Amino acid sequence: MPEIPEIASRAAEMNKELTGKIILSVIILQPKCLNIPPDEFNHFVSNAVIESVSHHGKWIKVKTTSGWVLINLGMGGEILLTNREKMPEKYRLVFDFNDKTCLTINFWWFGYVHFCRVDEIHTHPMLAKLGPNILDLNEADYSTLIKTQRGKVKAFLLDQSKVAGVGNAYIHDILFLAHLHPNRPIAGLTDDEIHNLFQSVQDGLRPSLAKGGAFYEMNLYGQKGGFLMEDILIGYRENSPCPVCGSLILKIKTGSTSSFICPRCQPEG
Ligand SMILES: [Zn+2]
Repeated sequence: MPEIPEIASRAAEMNKELTGKIILSVIILQPKCLNIPPDEFNHFVSNAVIESVSHHGKWIKVKTTSGWVLINLGMGGEILLTNREKMPEKYRLVFDFNDKTCLTINFWWFGYVHFCRVDEIHTHPMLAKLGPNILDLNEADYSTLIKTQRGKVKAFLLDQSKVAGVGNAYIHDILFLAHLHPNRPIAGLTDDEIHNLFQSVQDGLRPSLAKGGAFYEMNLYGQKGGFLMEDILIGYRENSPCPVCGSLILKIKTGSTSSFICPRCQPEG
């Protein structure tokens, strides 16, 4: 599933490549991913000029002269810049541009491509619920936010309405770097632990961001991200030795999700 390193990388690539292009038309093979009927969608975006591309949480936001095209890849997928001579095997939508290039979007399972008018971006029902992008928070704002929270530290980081962008892949290394058990109550964290967690969020996400995201997602040009399995510290490494203390990594159940932890570096109590 794409998270901030992948989504922010795609948005940056799209901003660089798509800005200034004119959308001629859109072929929609999966109308269910839209929030409006396909002909209406086409009516709104045809002849729109792309102004910029950014992201909020796991949503990619394409600003055009007609309004916003909002893309959410769900469990994953590919957004590829190509042309009609080199189409990928699978796609659910194709945006054809004035310069004979096109953008194809594929979802592995299910995703969203929504349209909203310029002034509707703040009331879009799914975007309006999101907290700030986790990497956009400075330490002071982050500390203020976390100190108002209740519940467990992992649940907080995964709750997109609190902070947006972390999912089930990067969370394990973030908590490992912070020496925090996923079930630690936020109310019991010391100021040092809150500071360490802020730093660990940066250290757990930015190396992948710098490499264009993880290997299991493709970039706009059809190449795999540069953040590899060997770059992951303890996530998905059950029964491997902890890189710090050598204890065996455990896979444990935390709520409805699994967590990978070092039992010695991340004690529960
Ligand atoms: Zn350890």
